[in-house]
Amino acid sequence: MSKTLFERIISREIPADIVFENEELLAFRDINPQAPVHVLLVPKRVVARVDEAQRSDRELLGNLLLAAAQVARQLGLAENGYRLVINNGADGGETVPHLHCHILGGRPLGWPPG
Ligand code: AMP
Repeated sequence: MSKTLFERIISREIPADIVFENEELLAFRDINPQAPVHVLLVPKRVVARVDEAQRSDRELLGNLLLAAAQVARQLGLAENGYRLVINNGADGGETVPHLHCHILGGRPLGWPPG
């Protein structure tokens, strides 16, 4: 199967502005930021989307959220707050079929999203 865009970033085939990495996750700045801080946090092991996650992925999913909070703190977002977003499927706005958590902050974010 062909590699996802994010696998190419993880393997450094495509450059990205990386802000965090550990053995199972990579975080890099979104190329089309929707807020002053907009980072994508991506598991190195491909799970297409939350809807395809299995029970065996529960540790990875938990670690994803904990790391999102850590990256948000590292980027100075914890005090004023931030938003975590996971788009799932077409209506959810998913464009890359490789699970990722958007970390958005640096301005007040409206609700509901458009
Ligand atoms: P989603 O729409 O939730 O699937 O999010 C995919 C995100 O990937 C979008 O916010 C894009 O702006 C972002 N994106 C696409 N290509 C790149 C890239 N080469 N480097 C960083 N972010 C990217």
